[in-house]
This record gives sequence, structure tokens and C-alpha cells, in this order.
Amino acid sequence: MQVRSGIAVSPGVVVGQALVLGSENFRIPKKFVSRDAVEAELLRFQTALGHVCADIEEHEILVSEKMGERCAAIFSAHLQMARDPKVVGEVETLIKDSKYSPEYAVSRTLRAFAEQMQNLGDQYLAERAVDIFDLEKRLLRELLGERREELTNLTQPVIILAHDLTPGETATLDPKYVLGFATEVGGHTSHTAILAGALEIPAVVGLGRCLAGVSGGETVILDGDHGQVVIDPDEPTFKRVKDSQARNLRVTERLESLDKLDSATQDGQRVHVYGNIEFPEEVEHCNKRGADGVGLYRTEFLYLGGNREPSEEDHFTAYSRVLKACGDLPVVIRTLDIGADKVPARIRDRFADSQNPMLGLRSIRLSLQSTPLFKVQLRAVLRAAVHGNARIMFPLVSSLLEFRQAKMILMDVMEDLEDEGIDFRRNLPIGMMVEVPSAIILAEEFAREVDFFSIGTNDLIQYTLACDRSDPSVAHLYRSGDPSILRMIQMVLKAADKHGKPVTVCGQMSSDPRFVPLLLGLGLRNLSATPHSIPRLKEVVRNISIPEAERIAAHACTLDLARDVEHYLLGELGRLCPDLVV
Ligand code: PEP
Ligand code: MG
Repeated sequence: MQVRSGIAVSPGVVVGQALVLGSENFRIPKKFVSRDAVEAELLRFQTALGHVCADIEEHEILVSEKMGERCAAIFSAHLQMARDPKVVGEVETLIKDSKYSPEYAVSRTLRAFAEQMQNLGDQYLAERAVDIFDLEKRLLRELLGERREELTNLTQPVIILAHDLTPGETATLDPKYVLGFATEVGGHTSHTAILAGALEIPAVVGLGRCLAGVSGGETVILDGDHGQVVIDPDEPTFKRVKDSQARNLRVTERLESLDKLDSATQDGQRVHVYGNIEFPEEVEHCNKRGADGVGLYRTEFLYLGGNREPSEEDHFTAYSRVLKACGDLPVVIRTLDIGADKVPARIRDRFADSQNPMLGLRSIRLSLQSTPLFKVQLRAVLRAAVHGNARIMFPLVSSLLEFRQAKMILMDVMEDLEDEGIDFRRNLPIGMMVEVPSAIILAEEFAREVDFFSIGTNDLIQYTLACDRSDPSVAHLYRSGDPSILRMIQMVLKAADKHGKPVTVCGQMSSDPRFVPLLLGLGLRNLSATPHSIPRLKEVVRNISIPEAERIAAHACTLDLARDVEHYLLGELGRLCPDLVV
């Protein structure tokens, strides 16, 4: 049994078979063969090995003729490895004695060698592990032939283990077959992590390097509540997981029966709990959980999914669907937040030179530099707005000029639609995300010009603490409970209150029940969260009064370490709603 710890980013505990993704998405179809099949399977391995060696030899000759012996040496290394009696003997023993399928035996043997090389403490040898992976790929390609499976063609439920998944790849995962996923890299609020929540797929990220020794086909427990991945679990671990799954299910069922209740505190203060969505279909997840509307629609996923630029009609159809499904409830449509870790494959070149994409051409900056692209989206938002209660929001605004420019382009688009005689809504509220410290320092000035604020803590934490939200090596520094973040939120609430402007928190901080008492106590009355967390957030709201929340917030603000703030808030949550502390 191997236990790996990472960062829990999407809740739920699942058990299933591992599908390990390398650079090519091979899937080991079965782990064992029957006793009668052993001889035939040995022969299949030897034949595949023969073909692979012949193939490598051919390449070696070709490359040596064209580019010289130095370049061809890489193939000699592969050949040496493929013929190494220790490697071949080990694979054959696993097929004969353990009745492993040749695919599984090859992968297990080569990955174990690769792992040993990576752990020898020699940089050169560690880098040579790629040659072993290369040989593994060649052998699997030969053994599996046409039976190679792609991520999008899964036919059986699996738990995906990968070095990384891009937000685009994650967006194509089918929750019917992907029980959960875990990645070696990634942070708390990387967009891959956020998507896992949107798709309601349990997920753990930031495991660190650990997949070299895993072939696929192993039984895996993925615990998205505690950030743990267990490979080949033993019996007591299985039992512990089953108990925790049952406990979780009981809480979820109890809370779902209360979904239709409004969220008001014990002393009658109404608190709005909205949903964050990435895909139009998710609006049903919000409605099912009794959300008060959509507080954040991340529209850039229209660009990340498909392989062509979405047209005005594509935008219009998506927004109309969400607005119609919400009726009178508000829907905050955020304009494109492309850039950083969300770059459509077809325009990746445009960002290739950026040394630091999180600080580069991203979000509203990109929209302001690509006016035709921006206008297509704005036209669609204004047209769809006639179908419901739409609001428009600009992301990553860092100066007043940016906000004014974006607003001016919106006015231009209104004039165009007017001239063309196209139906649209003119008077929709215009707000901004607060996710850069400069926007907080100037919050009073912004408050005079915006109709509402929405605090994006995911980016705010990254830019305030200088901590990449996707980098697991600084994940311990990336903390919602940092006193600087608490003060930033207080500053926005104060400035907004002075000008009578509403504020929502829509970063992942507001999806975490621990922070609800704190945020209410600071004066926040609107939360926008991942849909599956809504029942738990409403439960906290129903179990607290405003004076009590104010007392909790006041005490939290006296603490000077993030760790102490979070520990204190966890204790308070345990007191208010014991079964929410898993
Ligand atoms: C945020 O930054 O908190 C936010 C909600 O936006 P995103 O996660 O899409 O960057
Ligand atoms: Mg953001």
C-alpha cells in the first residue's frame, strides 16, 4: 500500500482503478491473465519486444546515416535497455509467477527502474529516466496496438493519475467515467482544481512526484476531503474509507432535504448564496441546491473547450440558457478571463514569450487589447440580457482607467446594436472583480463608479502574498486566513458601504464553510460558491446569529498568523455545525 498526500480541492471519497496518464494516454486494460494463458502471453511479450528492438535498430541506422553516430547513440541506449537480461527477466517473472498481463508487467518493471534512477540523487541519471519511459511507451504501443484509449473515449470508470491536467483537458472529462483525479502538480485554486469542483469530480492536486512507480490498473482510493491518495489499499484502510463515505452521504442527504430553505441567520438576517459556474449546464446544479442565482459565470470556458473561436451566436446561446433557467434571479456574467493558466491551445503562441503569465496579458487587459474579440462577447451579453436578470462584470481590473475603458467599449457596443435595430438590454448593472491589491487601495474611488464589487480571493491571495495559486511548492503560504487578506476584505466592505454598493466574495474562500462566520461578521451578506458547497454554506448561515458572527470575526482579526486564524475558525465551525467537520 502506498499513501500519498496532496491538496484536497474537490470533495468526495472514491475507490476505483488507476488510469495513469503519460504524455500518451495509454491505459493498461487488465492486470491479470488466467493460468492457461501464461505461455501465450509470454510469447506475446517476446514478439512485441522483438518488434520494438527491430524498430529501434532501424531508427539507429537511419539516424546514424543522416546525423552521425552521436545522435544515434540515444537509440543504442534504448536498445541496451530493451535487451537487458535483468529487465526482460523481471517482466517474464511477473507474467509467469504473478500472472500479470504483459502490459502491466512491462509498465510495472520499467517504472520501478525509472523510479530507482530518479532517486539515485544524480541529476544526469534522473534525467535518463525519460529513456525508460520512452521504451515503456514503445512496448505498450506494440502490445496494445489499436486498443490504445484516449481520455475522451473512456468506457469504464477510472481514477485518473497524471503529472498535470490543463484546464482544457479537465473540461473534457466525463464525470460518468472519471470517478476522480489526482495530479502531481497544481495548487488550491488552480483552474484545474476549480473545474474539478464544477464537474463535481473528487480531486487531489500537488501530490509531488510519485507516479513513476504506478502503472495503471491498481486499485486506488482517492480522498478529496483530506487530500489523500492510497494505491493498493489494505483491508483496514478500505473499511475506514467506506465508513467515511457513509458518513458523508448521510450529511449530504440531510442537507439536500433543506435545500429549498432560504438562508437566513438565527436573528433573521438574509444572506444570499449564489453559485459559481463555468458551463451553462451547471446552472441546474445551482438551482437544485436552492442557489439565489449565479454570482460568477466564468465565460472563458466557452473558449477553452472547443477547437474553434466561439461565435456571437455561441455566446448568445450559452448566456440565454443560463438567464432563462434563473428566471428573476440574478446572473453575473464575467467577461473573458483568458490568460495565465487559461489559454486556448489555438492561441498559445501569442503568450509564448511571457515570462510570467500570471502578471502578463490576462483578463480585462487582453480584452482591451483585442477589442473585436471583446465586442463579440459584449454584444452577446447585451442581447441575451433581455431573457433575465443579467449583470456584467469585468475581471482583474487594476486601474480606474481600465474600468472606464471597458465601460466605454460596452457603451459603443450598445450604440452599434441600437443602430442595427437589434433587441438588447441597456440598463444592466456593471461591476468589477476585486482581485488585485491596487483595486483595494483605490476601493473608494472605484466604489463611486461601479454598481457592485465581487472579491476574487483566488487571485487576491496570489497577488497579495506573491504566491502562485497553481504552485504546490508555495501552497503552504497561500492562505485564505492570512491577516492581510482579512484586512483587505474589510477595506472593500467599508468603501462599498460608504457608497451603498453591494459586495460578494466569489473566490474559493467563500466555498469553505469555515470562513462563513468570519465573512458574515465582517459585514458580508453575499457569497458566491461552487454549487456543491451551497448546502453546507447555508447550514452555517442558519446556525449562527450576526452578533455571534461579529464576535468570531473580531477575535479572528486579533490573531496574527494565518494558521491560528484557520485553526480558530475550524474550532468555531465544529461548535456551530459539528457534522460539517470531516
Ligand atoms: C478569483 O480570482 O477569486 C476568481 C473568482 O476568479 P478566477 O478563479 O476565475 O481567477
Ligand atoms: Mg480571478
